[in-house]
Amino acid sequence: MRAVFLNAVNELVATQVSRPRPEAGESLIRVLACGICGTDRHIYKGEYPSAKPVILGHEFGGLIEEVGAGSKFSVGQLVSVDPNIVCGKCDDCIAGRTAFCPDLTALGVNINGGLAEFVLTPDSQIYPVRTDLNPLHLAFIEPLACSIRGMDLAELKGGEKVAVLGGGVIGLLVVQLAKLAGASEIVLITRQKFRRDVALQIGATKVVDPISEKLADVVKNMDVTFECAGAIETFKDAQVITRRGGSVIVLGLTPADVELEIKPFSIVVNELRIQGSYLNPLTQARAAELVGSGDLKLDILISKVVDLSGVQTILDAPPAEGDIKYIVCP
Ligand SMILES: [Zn+2]
Ligand SMILES: [Zn+2]
Repeated sequence: MRAVFLNAVNELVATQVSRPRPEAGESLIRVLACGICGTDRHIYKGEYPSAKPVILGHEFGGLIEEVGAGSKFSVGQLVSVDPNIVCGKCDDCIAGRTAFCPDLTALGVNINGGLAEFVLTPDSQIYPVRTDLNPLHLAFIEPLACSIRGMDLAELKGGEKVAVLGGGVIGLLVVQLAKLAGASEIVLITRQKFRRDVALQIGATKVVDPISEKLADVVKNMDVTFECAGAIETFKDAQVITRRGGSVIVLGLTPADVELEIKPFSIVVNELRIQGSYLNPLTQARAAELVGSGDLKLDILISKVVDLSGVQTILDAPPAEGDIKYIVCP
């Protein structure tokens, strides 16, 4: 089968390898769509730890091609995959904090993932989806599961004023989730005009260009702010635009060694809650259901669809202005 390996930092190799065979408890999945995201870029540049060599790609789904002995799945079934494999037995797993499992390994990070024709997948990670789902939408289920984790932590009850910093896939999924959760105002803040226009079409009530407008003047007193850009600047902005007693939910990932000065005083007197949101603990099934429901606008987020030969070009350059989601169809 064809596959794209990360052999070393900044070194991808597209090559032929033999097709794995599933044992009991595993299935072989024919990948129909695999998203490429910021985490893949961080891994490629050595800013996020991974195995090497490894086949990248953690946002994928496809058709069951072959099953292990005694499988509950059937050949030809359309499925999505939760890439994060946990032990299920440690204290964190038992308490539902699966993202902190010390044995966590991830398809496309530590073991071979979705930038290949086929992926050997533990059955525990497989979530069937409706048969008529657009296969390209499979690439959104994992990032949606991470966004749903952020929504869970935000505890929206309806009627809140919500700000979203960053207009990438996560930011634009959070806009839609906030709308479904009944937010009264949804402000999307991003420098890119195309992304602001998209946000207005999928549920944002207002968009702001932080370059041409002074953010603190035009966005204030937000109940909940989602930081989805993974930048120091937006992390600071989030604290400025959130009301006293409000919450900042941080989904964006900066490089691991980035530091920032903060004022503990202002966190205390403003009772500001700064809450990280990591991975997709126990949210993959809900994400698969929600993508299947058709209630999300996903086609508008797809910028480019390529085959495996297009991966190198995508990872070598930052996303082009206005581009949102790249999807690989191996
Ligand atoms: Zn991702
Ligand atoms: Zn565990």
